Amino acid sequence: MFFSDRVRNMDLTPEQLIRYSRHFILPNVGEEGQKKLLASKVLIIGTGGLGSPLALYLSAAGVGTIGLVDFDIVDLSNLQRQVIFAESDIDTPKVDAAAKRLRQMNSDLKIIKHNERITSANALEIIKNYDIIIDGTDNFPTRYLTNDACVILKKPNVYGSIYRFDGLVTVFSGKNSAGEDGPCYRCLYPEPPPPGMVPSCAEGGVLGILPGTVGVIQATEAVKLICGIGKSLVGRLMVYDALNMTFRELKVRKDPNCPVCSKNPTITELIDYEQFCGLKNHQAEQSGVKEISVQELKQKIDAKEDFLLLDVREPFETQIAKIPGGKLMPLGDLEAKLKEFESFKDEEIVAYCHRGPRSRRALEILHSKGFKNLKNVSGGVDAWAIHIDQAVSRY
Ligand code: ZN
Repeated sequence: MFFSDRVRNMDLTPEQLIRYSRHFILPNVGEEGQKKLLASKVLIIGTGGLGSPLALYLSAAGVGTIGLVDFDIVDLSNLQRQVIFAESDIDTPKVDAAAKRLRQMNSDLKIIKHNERITSANALEIIKNYDIIIDGTDNFPTRYLTNDACVILKKPNVYGSIYRFDGLVTVFSGKNSAGEDGPCYRCLYPEPPPPGMVPSCAEGGVLGILPGTVGVIQATEAVKLICGIGKSLVGRLMVYDALNMTFRELKVRKDPNCPVCSKNPTITELIDYEQFCGLKNHQAEQSGVKEISVQELKQKIDAKEDFLLLDVREPFETQIAKIPGGKLMPLGDLEAKLKEFESFKDEEIVAYCHRGPRSRRALEILHSKGFKNLKNVSGGVDAWAIHIDQAVSRY
């Protein structure tokens, strides 16, 4: 296995013999398996819903080095599912709060904090130091970035995703039980969805317990890979439906023409993933929609300019936070109610949502119907709450 050199000269302390005694008597794990766990280095990308159970269980299991990547701070709305945090952690960096909690549980381990956004500029440098990478992120650019970096560096990528009541788990770019290279994320999803088409958990909701189930399955896969036991999820996608309490297994095949993991890849270094996923402003402008900042919107409001401010979120969201003067028109109702906007065909329409993708989608719909002067508020009401009016709640 990849860290056998590190295991060879390892002696366990009396405390370790007691702490991990349940592993020692476990068939196929034993002292050898525990030494592998202690010698292993696992990187968890995202210290949120999935990262919480992952980090807690992997540190309890004695994974010797755990890297945590996150640039966010703990928010009250995280506590519904991110069980590694306490109320007293609110407003502190997630990696700091998580590392503190893990050290309280197991002082044996090395916790490495990466308090930064993982990007094409730093991903290879961060990932190369670890044996196994676990993707606990919630956005498409980071998933493609993590995938490509893992394929390039030949690291197994334990993938999980959650939405509402459903979860997905698999292992990308690992070896299957026959020793063959398994598929990667791009083999399963060659193209990212159009921006705004797939709502995030912040927009669509998520059962607070769901990331616990999915994260624990990811942790299980990581421990199996480290100990070299069982049959991994390489080439198999586990589909979990919490409402019906079913697990289904789908086969994922390696794409012989995959741009990154095939024999003749066209992508051999990291690219601009924001651009690839269509999240850059110029892409939006190509589609006829311009981006404006919350500062520009504030100036327009203060100058009493004549424009229609459209809020395309759901009604309940307006009770949490809003920008003054907006007309509510949930994205899902827009096409059926286009008649209400006929008189605005040549007027300026500025739209916002929670963070930007839904309002961009709404404006693209209006653009396709002949509306011309369309502007999307970058970062949505969340950016408004950060930069313009701190009295507005974030969620
Ligand atoms: Zn692939």
